Amino acid sequence: MDSSNSDKQNNNQSVNEDPAGVDNEFCPGFKDVDAFVKYGLGTVVAATKASASLPQVGDEYDLYRSFPGFQEFCETQGDGLLHCMSQIMHHHGCRAHMRDRNKLTGLEERFDLVVDSNDVILEKVGILLDDAAGVNRSQQPVMPAGFQPPKIVVSSWNRKGGDSGSGRSSETFRLLQAKNVTRPQLKFREKVDNSNTPFTPKIFVKPNAIKPLPSCRSQRPEDLDVPAALADFIHQQRTQEHVEDMFAHPYQYELDHLALPEHLLSKPEPQMYKPLAETKCSFIDNLEDLVAVNEKLAKTSEFAVDLEDFLLNHVSFLGITCLMQISTRDEDFIIDTLELRSELYILNEAFTDPAIVKVFHGADSDIEWLQKDLGLYIVNMFDTHQASRTLNLGRHSLDHLLKLFCNVDSDKRYQLADWRIRPLPDEMFQYARADTHYLLYVYDRLRVDLWEVGNGQPALLQMVWHKSKDISLKKYMKPLFTEDSYMDLLRKQKKAFNTQQLTAFRLLYGWRDKLARQEDESTGYVLPNHMMIKISDILPKEPQGIIACCNPVPPLVRQQVNELHLLVQQAREMPLLKVRHAWGHAMHWFFLQPEIPLFGPHDTSRVSESDIPSFTPDSKIYLKSIVNINYVDTVKDPGHLTVAQQKACRVVESFQNPFRMYLPSNDIHISKNAKFDPSTKIYELPGITSECCNCAPASFSE
Ligand code: AMP
Ligand code: MN
Ligand code: ZN
Repeated sequence: MDSSNSDKQNNNQSVNEDPAGVDNEFCPGFKDVDAFVKYGLGTVVAATKASASLPQVGDEYDLYRSFPGFQEFCETQGDGLLHCMSQIMHHHGCRAHMRDRNKLTGLEERFDLVVDSNDVILEKVGILLDDAAGVNRSQQPVMPAGFQPPKIVVSSWNRKGGDSGSGRSSETFRLLQAKNVTRPQLKFREKVDNSNTPFTPKIFVKPNAIKPLPSCRSQRPEDLDVPAALADFIHQQRTQEHVEDMFAHPYQYELDHLALPEHLLSKPEPQMYKPLAETKCSFIDNLEDLVAVNEKLAKTSEFAVDLEDFLLNHVSFLGITCLMQISTRDEDFIIDTLELRSELYILNEAFTDPAIVKVFHGADSDIEWLQKDLGLYIVNMFDTHQASRTLNLGRHSLDHLLKLFCNVDSDKRYQLADWRIRPLPDEMFQYARADTHYLLYVYDRLRVDLWEVGNGQPALLQMVWHKSKDISLKKYMKPLFTEDSYMDLLRKQKKAFNTQQLTAFRLLYGWRDKLARQEDESTGYVLPNHMMIKISDILPKEPQGIIACCNPVPPLVRQQVNELHLLVQQAREMPLLKVRHAWGHAMHWFFLQPEIPLFGPHDTSRVSESDIPSFTPDSKIYLKSIVNINYVDTVKDPGHLTVAQQKACRVVESFQNPFRMYLPSNDIHISKNAKFDPSTKIYELPGITSECCNCAPASFSE
C-alpha cells in the first residue's frame, strides 16, 4: 500500500501547487480524472500483490488455518469483503446475496455472481462512455414550444401492462405517457400490411394509361359480388397468372415512353411566387375538398409536392405518411394523409398526367411513400435536388435553395417532428407550407441556370428530367425477413462473434422482426441495433443482465425479458467456436443446426479456451469441401479431433449439402434496404436513426 499512498501524496502536492484549482477538483483530493484513475490503479495493484502473498490453498493455507487467530482474522476480513461487494452489486441493481449462505451453494456460484455483476457494471461504464462521446444519443421528436400532446394513449403493448403486477404497470404507464400521440394506424380503413410478403402496388384504377392495368389488378377481389372464399380463389388464380404484372411498376410503360414537350427543354421565364400573406392555404381533410383540389390540379400545368413522414422514433414498422403539401402558382394545400389515406389515390389523375409537371425536392423517399401508403405514382417529375446537383451548387438542401433564390431563411426544425399530431399546431402548419410554397419559383430559376450553364443548350435540362424520371421509376420494396437477413446487419459490425453470440444475434434478430411486424413498431423501437449487439456480445446469464444491456430499456424488451432470456440461454447451449463473421454467412447453418452433432454435447456455460474444439488442417479441407467456403478460423493451434468428433464428421460427410442456396455467391452483396444513387454509384442505407452502429458502406464482397 506504500506506493499508492505516496502516489496520493504526490497528487495532493500537485493540487496544492495550484490553489485556484482546488475548487475545480474532480473529487476530494483529486484534481482531475487522470489523477483519480492513477491513484485507483495503484491501489488495485497493491491489493493484488497483497492477495498474491497470502498463504496459498493447500498445505500452506491449511497450516495457517490451524491457528485460531488467523482463522478469526480471515473470517472477519472475508465477511467485510463480501459485505463491500454486496453493497456495490446492490448499488448496480445486480443480484447481491453474496453473504446469504442459504441461497448459495458455494464458491462457484459466488464467482458467477461476481462475473455477472462485472458484466453489468462494465456495460454501464460502456454505455456512459458512449453517451459522453455522443454515440447513443436518442433522437426525440421535436415538438413546438408549449405544445400539449393529447393525453389519449393507445398502444397494443398496453394490453399486457394492465393486468400485470402493480409496480410494473405503473412503469408501463409512465412509458406510455412518453409516447403521447394516438396511433393513427388504428383508424386506417385498410389495415397496414406488415406481413413478410413482397409489396404489391395499391392501385386498382389507372388514369392516363397508355398500357392498361393488367386484369389481375383492375378489380379488388373484395369488390366483386361473389362470396369471400370465391373472391380469394379468383384472386389467387389471377396472382398466379400474373405474378410479374403484380409486382411491376404500374406506370413503367408510360414513364419509358414519356416524351417531354418542347417548351420544357428551353429557357423559361421565371414566375415570381405570391407572398405568403396573399396566398390562400387550405387544410384538406375530407373527400369533398380533396375532389376539389384534384379538379384544380388537373387544370394546372405544374404544381409542387412534398410529404412529411414519421418513421423516426419508432411509431410503425414501415413508417407513416402523415402530410402532403401541394402548391400551385396560386394556392397552397396541406392534405391530411392520415385522414384521407384510402382516398388519395384519386390524385393519380393529375399526378400521372404527363402534361402536368410535378416538382419535388429530393423525391427519393417521397416516391416510395406515395406508393406504399397512398397508391400514388408520378409521371413527369422535376426534382430540384437533382437540378442543384447537376448545377454543382455545392449544397443541395431545400434551405439552401430557398436562401439562394428567394432569400428566405427557413430552419429545418420540424423536419423530424412528429407529424401525426392533430390538430396540426400552427408552427408546423406554416413550416410544412413553406416546403412547397416557393418550390415552383425555385424550379423556374433552376431551369434558367441549367439553360445558361449549359450554354443555351438543353443537355443539362434533359439530364435533370432524365434523373427525375429514374426516381419516379423507383419501386417501393417492403423489408423482407429471410433466414439470413441478420447477416446484412452483422457484416456492418466489426465484431467477430463466436457461435454462441452469432446464435443469440440470429435469434434476437428474428424475435425483433416478428414483434415489430406484429405490433406495428419499427425494429429500432423494439430493440435498437446497438443493444441487440450488446446482448449478443455479453450473453447475460440473468434477465437482469439483458436489462442492463439496454439504456433506456425499450418497453417491449422489459415486457418480454423472459422470452429474451430463453433465447440467450438457447444460444449459450451452442458449442463454442469463434466465427469470423465474413464466413458466418456460409457457416451459420452448419454450426447453428443443433441437430448436427459435430462436437457432441458440451457444457458451454464455463468453457475455457482449451475446451474449444479446434480443427486440424485436414478438417479445414474437409469443411471447405462441404460448405464451399474460403477460410476457417482455428481457435488454437491445430490439434486432433476426438474420436467423437471424427465420428460426427463422418456422419455429416454422408449428407449432401442441402444448404447451397444459402451460400455466398461471388457477387457483391447489397443490403436489401440500400438505395442506389445512380449519379454517385453509391448505395445509401436508409439512415433514419443513429442506432445503426458503424454504418459501413452497404456493399460487401468476400
Ligand atoms: P422534407 O422533405 O425535408 O420535408 O422531409 C420529409 C420527411 O423526411 C420528414 O417528415 C422526415 O420524416 C423525413 N426526414 C427528413 N430528413 C430526415 C433526416 N435527416 N432523418 C430522418 N428522417 C428525415
Ligand atoms: Mn420532401
Ligand atoms: Zn417537407
